[in-house]
Amino acid sequence: MITKRIKVYGIVQGVGMRPTVARHAASLGIKGSVSNLGPYVEIYAQGEETQVDKFIDLIRNEPPKRAAILKMDVKVKDAEVYDDFSIIESAKTSGEIFVSPDIAICDECLTELYDKSNKRYLHPFINCTCCGPRLTILEALPYDRERTSMKVFPMCPDCEKEYHDPATRRYDAQPVCCNDCGPEVFILDDEQNRRGRDAITYVREVIANGGIAAIKGIGGFHLACNAYDNEAVRRLRELKHRPSKPFAVMMRNEDEVLKNCVIENYQRSILTGHQKPIILLARKEDSKIAEQVAPDNPMLGVMLPYAPLQSLIFDYDDGIKMPACLVMTSGNLSGLPICRNDDDARREIASYCDVILTHNRRIIIRADDSVMDFYDGKPYMIRRSRGYAPLPYMMTRPFSGSVIAYGGELKNTFCVAVNSLMYPSSYIGDLTDLKGKNALKESAERMINLLEAKPSYAVCDLHPSYNSSEAAEESGLPLIRVQHHYAHILSCMAENDYTGDVIGISLDGTGYGTDGTIWGGEILKCSLDDFERLGHIRPFLHTGGDIASREGFRIAISMLIDIYGDGAEDKCNRLGLVRQGSFKTYKAMHDNRINTAVSTSCGRLFDAASAILGIRYEQSFEGEAAVALEFKAMEYEGEKVFDCEDLTHGDVIATEKIITRLVDGMEKGEDVRKLAYEFHYMLAKGVSQMAIAKAGGIKTAALSGGCYQNKLLTKLTEKELRDNGFKVLLHSMVPPNDGGIALGQALYGMNRINN
Ligand code: ZN
Ligand code: FE
Repeated sequence: MITKRIKVYGIVQGVGMRPTVARHAASLGIKGSVSNLGPYVEIYAQGEETQVDKFIDLIRNEPPKRAAILKMDVKVKDAEVYDDFSIIESAKTSGEIFVSPDIAICDECLTELYDKSNKRYLHPFINCTCCGPRLTILEALPYDRERTSMKVFPMCPDCEKEYHDPATRRYDAQPVCCNDCGPEVFILDDEQNRRGRDAITYVREVIANGGIAAIKGIGGFHLACNAYDNEAVRRLRELKHRPSKPFAVMMRNEDEVLKNCVIENYQRSILTGHQKPIILLARKEDSKIAEQVAPDNPMLGVMLPYAPLQSLIFDYDDGIKMPACLVMTSGNLSGLPICRNDDDARREIASYCDVILTHNRRIIIRADDSVMDFYDGKPYMIRRSRGYAPLPYMMTRPFSGSVIAYGGELKNTFCVAVNSLMYPSSYIGDLTDLKGKNALKESAERMINLLEAKPSYAVCDLHPSYNSSEAAEESGLPLIRVQHHYAHILSCMAENDYTGDVIGISLDGTGYGTDGTIWGGEILKCSLDDFERLGHIRPFLHTGGDIASREGFRIAISMLIDIYGDGAEDKCNRLGLVRQGSFKTYKAMHDNRINTAVSTSCGRLFDAASAILGIRYEQSFEGEAAVALEFKAMEYEGEKVFDCEDLTHGDVIATEKIITRLVDGMEKGEDVRKLAYEFHYMLAKGVSQMAIAKAGGIKTAALSGGCYQNKLLTKLTEKELRDNGFKVLLHSMVPPNDGGIALGQALYGMNRINN
């Protein structure tokens, strides 16, 4: 007879770890106990040694479906004699804590949802031990019902029985409920007070008739309408003041996806997996999805229903014929944090829709849908949020202490680091106004409490007037500031668990440089301690201030004035770049430095190139002109290798030669698709040449920054560097855009406080 104590670390809370362990114990006649201690599950196992070891193997090899075991720690212990195997209620401890993300409805629950004989038939909140909301309903750890927003819904005797019976699928499932005891859906501010069935039927009617509905989901509200109805989608665009940025769609099931999109095997497993992010898929030519969903875009952002209520919107027993594909876009004011309660919805999105379907289960932490692209057969994250946040990254290097990193200004996320674990948050959004900043402050505080972290420093961007930097200042903690593009590279290093020196290529929109100018096309030598700016793209005049980030033609005119001097006017006119006013005005602004800033932004270089090639002169959302340029280049199928001279001039990448090439090509009437491809090719060459020339013995490169969402640019840069003997670190599950920089900031902070 022997007793062993087993500590299981990882995602072990809220995934049915204790009941699974109890079942394994019963199957082998093991006695002892299991308890949930916050950061880990602790098991005492008593029995014959061979049986105990079999039991340990069983836990390791057959954990609950949603668990992620990071580490098991086994010790022989003296112990009392146990009579049985028992589950001990939660006690609180501190240490490393793993919070489970929300989990999409599982197949068993989906079957029950439509089983007339089941007591949860059509119950909008059905869930079980291995599916349902987690992070979004959590107030504190350990994960028990009384510390979630389910605490106000006492279980009925039937649910209570299942909750306590290890033989059921709902044993220890904190949000368990049914039609008798669960939350209720209803129409917000409805004179007819439609609730439950009536509310769902009414919303289905509105959508089926071409209307727009706001629907409260797991992590916030969505706006939904028929994705096959061009007029409905056009109206949503008009109401939301969103002329062309693609909308995501939710499709009824996998068949509907196969009908409309081209899908690879590696994408399929993610489409149907338990995170259910929005994934970007190539749209089939014969797809009947309204053009307005993603105008001029060969891709569709697609997800499957992940909340039972969403399934009920597609399939219900009221005889209404519903479209099999709905636009499902975040219910928010453009760029701002998603609405999560009824007051938000009334204030911000009521005028965008015909009806609001809400419910009385509180959302405590927002979680936007994650958005995933793919690169080289692997996920290439654009927005890491629901389903993934706040799963931590574990650094091999031992750090101790804690910091909180406040991220950037657009696509904000923050990151709490505790010892060697870094927890990137769910998506907050753009911090262009107070709501964004307040959402950041509130969520950061909540996450610090949840993780029982005691950060000693706040880490933020160098930019003096970012709202994220202000939030960091207002935390009252001493500040550590990190340059924006260095933070991008650090984030790529953190994701790859790489702590050596790298040559970072940070191609990005804009960020504040150490010299007070705008940076964004940077070659940086980076270590965990510091960075050195080795090179950058040719500085240009960013004319027109903030407007220029929407109007690429302004940057193009400014670049052409620098390159061609007196000849610029003729070139600009022939390229159609003077969109408003006269060339003279732009020239005067340029020459007299009116409302101008010096910039090396690669994002703006893309915008200018897009304008010169006549692809997009201006844009209604960030990245529109660059994405259109990338799509155009992807259409090119000719010779893929071009003559390209050395573009490095000291520490400057001679981007003017790229621009000149585009202008020449346009004047000769060359194929725009070829020129678009050549732009990518030359840019990748230029940054690689600089990296190679300046590497000084470093043989590892890291690619980050928003421009590396561009997969053609990524591919061409990666190839060039590999061909020259470099190991190349890329992003995968952490976005290369500003949504990723908090992780880099956190790594920098942890390294600082440990030195
Ligand atoms: Zn389930
Ligand atoms: Fe950035």
